[in-house]
Amino acid sequence: MIDFSMYEVKAPKIQACKCEGCGEIFYPAPMICSKCGARRDPVTGKGWSTFDLEGPCTLLAWTRVWNLPEGYTKKFLQFGIVQFENGLRASGRVEVGEPKTGMKLTATVEESDERPGKPVNVFVFR
Ligand SMILES: [Zn+2]
Repeated sequence: MIDFSMYEVKAPKIQACKCEGCGEIFYPAPMICSKCGARRDPVTGKGWSTFDLEGPCTLLAWTRVWNLPEGYTKKFLQFGIVQFENGLRASGRVEVGEPKTGMKLTATVEESDERPGKPVNVFVFR
């Protein structure tokens, strides 16, 4: 029998970063901890840990972009900035009918192939 478990499709994730020295969390990952000054080696990541950034968040600001470039099938796209419960902020696509500043949303990560080139992981808030 062939074991297919290794081919299991994993949900894409976007990771935030924690300084093990002082416990401060960051997104995106910094070169230097702004709290304790610890350096982060982007290759080894020694002294830093990562965790998935997702889940409940609050919409801080949003915008609707019309007149999309050729190739888009949608009339518009919505983008927003959210704050997670741990205080970190991130931007991504807002997929609710009528966004309102301050509304509670849930962040997930999707692979976006809407633009030319390699697919990238993006936040989707809904
Ligand atoms: Zn630190």
